[in-house]
Amino acid sequence: MVELHRPKGTRDFLPRDMERRRWLEERLRGVLGRFGFGEIATPAFEHTELFTMRSGPGIIEDMYNFKDKGGREVALRPELTAPTMRLYVEGLLGAPKPLKLYYFGNCFRYEQPQKGRYREFWQFGAEILGAKRALGEIEILALAHECLSASGLKDFVFRIGHVGVLRKLFLDNGVPPEGQTPLWPLVDKKDFEGLRAALAEMNVDAGPIIAVLGSSGGREVLDNVPGSGLEEVLDGLGRLGISDFVIEPGIARGLDYYTGMVFEVDVPGLGAEKQVCGGGSYSLSELFGAEPVTSTGFALGFDRMLVALEAQGAAFPQRKLDFYIVPMGPKEREEGLRVLAELRRAGRSADIDLADRNLSKALKYASSANASAAVIIGDEELKSGLLTVKDLATGEQRKAPLAGLLK
Ligand code: ATP
Ligand code: MG
Repeated sequence: MVELHRPKGTRDFLPRDMERRRWLEERLRGVLGRFGFGEIATPAFEHTELFTMRSGPGIIEDMYNFKDKGGREVALRPELTAPTMRLYVEGLLGAPKPLKLYYFGNCFRYEQPQKGRYREFWQFGAEILGAKRALGEIEILALAHECLSASGLKDFVFRIGHVGVLRKLFLDNGVPPEGQTPLWPLVDKKDFEGLRAALAEMNVDAGPIIAVLGSSGGREVLDNVPGSGLEEVLDGLGRLGISDFVIEPGIARGLDYYTGMVFEVDVPGLGAEKQVCGGGSYSLSELFGAEPVTSTGFALGFDRMLVALEAQGAAFPQRKLDFYIVPMGPKEREEGLRVLAELRRAGRSADIDLADRNLSKALKYASSANASAAVIIGDEELKSGLLTVKDLATGEQRKAPLAGLLK
């Protein structure tokens, strides 16, 4: 016999899991709709080059990439920003700007799996293309904030930085732009030991740099590093009633293509997988052969949000069944099917015993199916034309005509 296992790092989702996932998805879609974003979808796989263009050749190690039967190098998408920019360049260049786009899709990364880190995971993300820079940044930050609030997440830490500030910090301390690129992954992982070693090789004093990288606080943090334009963004957020963020100049996001504001959101208590959102302003369109367009966006780690919500004991709503019909014999079943069809047609959710169980077993099943009421049909109900309706929460029983259940 063959032993069947899911591939490492993948998950099956049972009805209860899917109920929670759909609930969160609907919540997030609701927010995106209220913010005036339109949904896009792109293929699950792309030419590998699309991702190496955005993220550098190092990304190969993290990807599911292969040659297809036509000899083309393709990869399952590890993220959705590059596909979104490809879609823009291929089909939306002439569309009225700003473009406000969002996506929800599975991504694939060849990583060491653990709680909150999977080989197939889902990103919910948004991008604004062609807005005036600060205005787009305010909108995207407000959107990310609202997505997290509306999901019911508590105690998330919203951290905002600026790679321009970061680059200037390195430059002022003697690291020229071409020397900076290899440092971003170290800054991103807060690997200060590794950073010290790399800076020592360049004969750069790490002290002043690390002091700023480790700092965070209110907007006074910006006083040390003027000229970022972040002040305008923070003012805009204030006017939208958002003030629960910290300024953290050390956010690097690990990639070279970020150009301005960057941000990350953590939920403390999730250990190493605490980051539930990352984003910022970037320039990619030039790389894909199009005119420059201001671009800002983020991706929420959908699975990590669920891990966090579950850890916080969030009250996920449970699907309810309005009625569970229990016929006591073959004649009663005929009537039961008629009642079932009418209830469903009237928009009520209804199910009928399919296992021909006795009353007590059928009622037990009805409770486990989360039914609000059982409709019991026996000899007496057939004669009187009145149905017995049992409230499964209180155990109370009453008689009612079918018409009374349709509303
Ligand atoms: P990490 O540092 O945790 O690997 P990342 O910087 O690689 O995250 P991004 O590329 O910015 O992550 O992706 C955006 C979000 O997607 C992350 O903040 C995280 O919540 C989620 N995410 C990233 N990789 C995974 C994964 N392997 N499994 C589940 N969620 C993930
Ligand atoms: Mg990663």
